Amino acid sequence: MARKQGSKQLILEFFLQNIGRVLESRDIQEASGGAVEWARRVRELRNEEGYQILSHKDRADLKPNQYLLETTHRVPSFKRNISKETRAWVLERNGYTCQMCGAAAGDPDPFGGSRTVRLEMGHILDKSKGGDDSPQNLRAVCSNCNEGLQNTALPKPDRIHLLAQVRRATIQDQRVLLEWLLKKFKLETK
Ligand SMILES: [Zn+2]
Repeated sequence: MARKQGSKQLILEFFLQNIGRVLESRDIQEASGGAVEWARRVRELRNEEGYQILSHKDRADLKPNQYLLETTHRVPSFKRNISKETRAWVLERNGYTCQMCGAAAGDPDPFGGSRTVRLEMGHILDKSKGGDDSPQNLRAVCSNCNEGLQNTALPKPDRIHLLAQVRRATIQDQRVLLEWLLKKFKLETK
């Protein structure tokens, strides 16, 4: 926990020393003391602490590995506008599954070693394009997809190919799938 706080503070100081200057991913990571989760820390500074750190999602002239803080002015985070009830409703509606990559809450995180997948609220129509925080515009998205780590949304497999895949899988993998399905539907019928 202490180390986590540390890298976020280091990143913040780096941004504050470079107001108005475009910063590259590798420089931010270096400034963070080499934190693996530097991108998550950047997002926390933005979403939880209200620093207006811009990325390629906000400005067309920024490349995907570039970030920019133009002002020390902080805005209240929109994350807090989404109530616990809304969050619970959206997660339930989406079956506790990332709507971009299909990872489920509690699955091993493909990027995170010993971490497990964490679901967050994503916007169907981006806020920069006028989307709001209403439940209808929200969906469950894992933190990796939210950070753009998995930038390709997988198309939904059709049923015939999906079943063929499952039949070809090893018995052991089929058992893992069965356990996952049982767990999932127990959750949903509750
Ligand atoms: Zn995902």
